[in-house]
Amino acid sequence: MENFDTFYCDGDWVPVAGRGRLAAFDPCTERQFASIAVCDAHDVNAAVAAARRAFAAWSATPVAQRCAALSRVRDGIARQIEGFAEDLAREIGAPLWVSRQMQVPMPLRNLELAIDAIGSMALETRVAHSLVVHEPIGVVAAITPWNFPLHQIVAKVGAALAAGCTVVLKPSELAPLAARRFATIVHEAGLPRGVFNLVWGDGVETGAALATHPEVDMVSFTGSVTGGRAVARGAADSVKKVALELGGKSATILLDDAPLADAVPTVLRQCFTNSGQICAAQTRLLVPQALLGEVEALCERHARDWIVGNPDNPETRLGPVANHRQFETVQRHIGTALAEGARLVAGGAGRPSGYDQGYFVRPTVFSAVMPDMTLAREEVFGPVLALMSYADEEEAVAIANSTPYGLSGGVWSADAQRALGIARRLRTGQVVVNGAPQNLAAPFGGYRQSGIGRENGRYGVEEFFELKAIQGGCIHA
Ligand code: NAD
Repeated sequence: MENFDTFYCDGDWVPVAGRGRLAAFDPCTERQFASIAVCDAHDVNAAVAAARRAFAAWSATPVAQRCAALSRVRDGIARQIEGFAEDLAREIGAPLWVSRQMQVPMPLRNLELAIDAIGSMALETRVAHSLVVHEPIGVVAAITPWNFPLHQIVAKVGAALAAGCTVVLKPSELAPLAARRFATIVHEAGLPRGVFNLVWGDGVETGAALATHPEVDMVSFTGSVTGGRAVARGAADSVKKVALELGGKSATILLDDAPLADAVPTVLRQCFTNSGQICAAQTRLLVPQALLGEVEALCERHARDWIVGNPDNPETRLGPVANHRQFETVQRHIGTALAEGARLVAGGAGRPSGYDQGYFVRPTVFSAVMPDMTLAREEVFGPVLALMSYADEEEAVAIANSTPYGLSGGVWSADAQRALGIARRLRTGQVVVNGAPQNLAAPFGGYRQSGIGRENGRYGVEEFFELKAIQGGCIHA
């Protein structure tokens, strides 16, 4: 078992002063693999003070130098893809293929995009006689979840550092390994002391100390709606900017001319990958009434392709869910869906056959899910797809837009213009037409309770600026 007794502050790993400890568990074996010292208010103060001291010099560092430093971080990550894959297998049960294809390549690309964005952005523009200047907002608290540990860290830290901010990161207490490896890479990349700092701990103590800290200028949070609300409340007293990336209940609409043989396995992939622990997972599939039987049969058949197993088995498509709380949540949702009258098409409650330990769940599809059922409204964050039938396009759009969320959505049609027309009507931050791949240069974020603000590419970097208008600044320019 590993002990995490030091945190990264002002360019060094220093002992944690806080007395509390947290345990992290391997989701395959349910055995504890780490004991983590919890940073208390004293530790958080030290990290924030280091970030504050470093801010003046880092924000004034020429963009080319900041880009060079971030390129070294990028290269460091690229050299350790397999190390990250091992970390993620252990701490969240991610199959190695998921790490090699998504968990690590996404942050690599995101860093490249942040570097390109800051390198090509006009940071000063003329507006009549005024000079409008983009200035980094200051000290950023980055608070991240466990489902894409490295991606979420890099999406925030890369963009904030590119913009000229300094950072205190609090990664998920359930996924310390990738976070520590990332901090070590940043250290080796030779960033100036205090530019990047990392504190360990949970939300209630360490996260709250950061969100309420008067010397933190902005909190960038990814996690649950409950956590996001708490962060926003905590940040309110000092009126700091808050960016929130929260949950979702995303719906894909199959139109009556959709190519079902392509669409159904793709939507299953968009729902089941990373064991369904993707905030933008397509978890509701809206089907014309006349096609429901055919879609159910395809789901039943393709769900069997999702072979459950350990992360290091090359056959595995579905690893365990990441932790005990998530296992219980998935089981509760399956039980509630059955109790509320949804019809099981594939999977179901309990572990898959052959497993009597580990947080393994069955890839599950329900049909006859009605808009007022819990499964149609609440995020499961597990491999559970809800099939819902609709009578006409109006009803499909209404059902898709009927949850408090608005993170992602999808539409399938043989007619691209028809699909685009539906895409425009979905109240979500992104829409996937005919299974198009994710584009990290496009903005990512949610409407309504899915969040505030955007990440990725230049949109992600822009979140970390203040805008200053120097009236008269262009008269002599
Ligand atoms: P969580 O809210 O429990 O925790 C996320 C992070 O916030 C952790 O670091 C946690 O310690 C911290 N935290 C929790 N409460 C806090 C508080 N009161 N003050 C400060 N910090 C606090 O979420 P989770 O279970 O780790 O992640 C799963 C959730 O994240 C899902 O709802 C998922 O949809 C969402 N998510 C959203 C996105 C997105 O980009 N929209 C991406 C990934 C995950």
